[in-house]
Amino acid sequence: MSKNRILSQRTEQDIDQRIERVIKGLGNPEPPLKLDDVRALLKLDRGFYTADDPGLASEVINRIRVATIQVYHRPTLIIDVIKKLSLKALYLPDRKRILLDSNLPEKKHRWNEAHEIGHSLIPWHDDMMLGDNDQTLSRDCHEQVEAEANYAAGRLLFLRERFMQEAKDMPPSMDSVRNLHKRFGNTISTTLYRFVESRGARLPMLGLISRHPHRVSNSTETIKHFIRSPIFAENFSHIDELEIYRGVASYCGSQSGGLLGSDELTLKDDNGDEHIFYFETFYNRYDALTIGIYIKPVKRLIS
Ligand SMILES: [Zn+2]
Repeated sequence: MSKNRILSQRTEQDIDQRIERVIKGLGNPEPPLKLDDVRALLKLDRGFYTADDPGLASEVINRIRVATIQVYHRPTLIIDVIKKLSLKALYLPDRKRILLDSNLPEKKHRWNEAHEIGHSLIPWHDDMMLGDNDQTLSRDCHEQVEAEANYAAGRLLFLRERFMQEAKDMPPSMDSVRNLHKRFGNTISTTLYRFVESRGARLPMLGLISRHPHRVSNSTETIKHFIRSPIFAENFSHIDELEIYRGVASYCGSQSGGLLGSDELTLKDDNGDEHIFYFETFYNRYDALTIGIYIKPVKRLIS
């Protein structure tokens, strides 16, 4: 649950310029971005596989790295590599081909594909053949190349500044997150992430992606992501996600989908002063998504 690796400004600018060229090349399209069009422009090919796909049984690859580590040193069958490393996606630079695991839920394909497009656009990734397993595709991965491909994927899928421009004119609420999720065609989790980071630049705001608070099996991973807006992280650095989660559980019902509840909760800032936040939690049948928005300080009576 750590934060994404911070890239240098120069690296971000370099990658962003490559994304800008792609979006311009497509004639600055309206959201949602069609990845079919991106692939056509970049002359990339896409295929799907399953770990028992006979079509892959004869394909040989000559080198492969997962997150910068050379894992095979001699020509190897793709199918063996996919199985042994539990790959979820890979990019073959010499064939300009993206391969995605079709056993993954469809809503994950879009991010994975954009991530592999990211690898294809970054020239210094080219001398590696990259495979991505569960860990390297996660937001929390610390490897530099993975962070770079994820950065490219985010800039691409949210159409660079376009998302922020639209988000800043909308009221901070779960409704806005859901509208932007539909409009840009990205998962509600990645949309919540972007929304809190960009819309919460000046307004303290947080997001929580967790299990349903009243339908938890004995899983250790109750909380998947704790998202803090820049100004929230600065002023509420002592608040941990479990404290938030307990507050969320206190107002949520046990519904099997839709809005689970909303309430005002009081959070203490780093100076010990109390502030009221408005919380809403939505359940999409996979994850419970919570947004917490700053309202006002708690008034103190001075005697
Ligand atoms: Zn990758």
